[in-house]
Amino acid sequence: MAKNLQDTTTLHNGTKMPWLGLGVFKVEEGSELVHAVKSAIKHGYRSIDTATIYDNEKGVGQGIHEAILENNISREDLFVTSKVWNADLGYESTLAAYETSLNKLGLEYLDLYLIHWPVEGKYQDAWRALETLYNEGRVKAIGVSNFQIHHIEELMKIATIKPMVNQVELHPQLTQKDLMEFCKEQGIQMEAWSPLMQGQLLDHPILQEIANKHNKSIAQVILRWDLHNGIVTIPKSTKEHRIIENADVFDFELSTDDLSRIDGLNQNHRVGPDPDNFNF
Ligand code: NDP
Repeated sequence: MAKNLQDTTTLHNGTKMPWLGLGVFKVEEGSELVHAVKSAIKHGYRSIDTATIYDNEKGVGQGIHEAILENNISREDLFVTSKVWNADLGYESTLAAYETSLNKLGLEYLDLYLIHWPVEGKYQDAWRALETLYNEGRVKAIGVSNFQIHHIEELMKIATIKPMVNQVELHPQLTQKDLMEFCKEQGIQMEAWSPLMQGQLLDHPILQEIANKHNKSIAQVILRWDLHNGIVTIPKSTKEHRIIENADVFDFELSTDDLSRIDGLNQNHRVGPDPDNFNF
């Protein structure tokens, strides 16, 4: 299990990916965004998760470049993820979208490029584009997001490379056990989005009890639960003190009882769209 903030999981192609990173969904371009990215890297984060649709790749790139200079680290020390948006799914259009993301971020390569949503009839061509980018050495790893088991099975019919990561909504009210099991069998790394259920679990009485016992916050308990379960996690915060708090999860252990109580909170409840029923 992860022992510190810079610990990594090894994806099935050998690429190393940090267990914990910073999410930046809904953070608009501007100084708050740049500051959040810089704070995270200053405090030891090495992974940043963005997407074309977040419309903030420029600021993420600026934060990354400033942080590299200020912290005396190199680009290779960081793990940057972006995602191709639905409107760009297609072979040529996905290749072009990748270039646009790189240009906005001001980077030569991404560590991970994901298909953001499994739009029926479209993700197969996009996957071929990701395979081309990967085979040409333009991206370190490729994967999917919001894919259910059947989407992955469908993709595997045409894929020559298995996705390295599946990033999905996952938190104590949506534990995704079947998908977890499937991905584990396939060697696909699971990654949790909205790990804190967008802040809506942070007054939950059972989680509060567990948090009190360990002298930790609810956010820290949830993130520790992710790590214990072998799930990469990317909590979002723009507040420096919370960015620090969310990474301070390596000095305590949840008991078997704690873990099963957290698992018991599952309600298959989504705060985001359902991958089997979305229209965007
Ligand atoms: P999170 O579950 O990470 O929750 C973020 C919310 O919790 C914010 O309101 C934040 O507020 C608050 N928060 C964060 N830390 C703490 C803390 N320690 N104490 C109290 N409140 C806290 O939600 P996200 O939806 O942002 O998910 C995380 C990341 O996952 C995204 O940023 C994005 O990168 C990715 N994602 C991917 C999706 C996909 O389809 N692939 C979909 C959605 C998200 P504040 O900033 O004010 O601290």
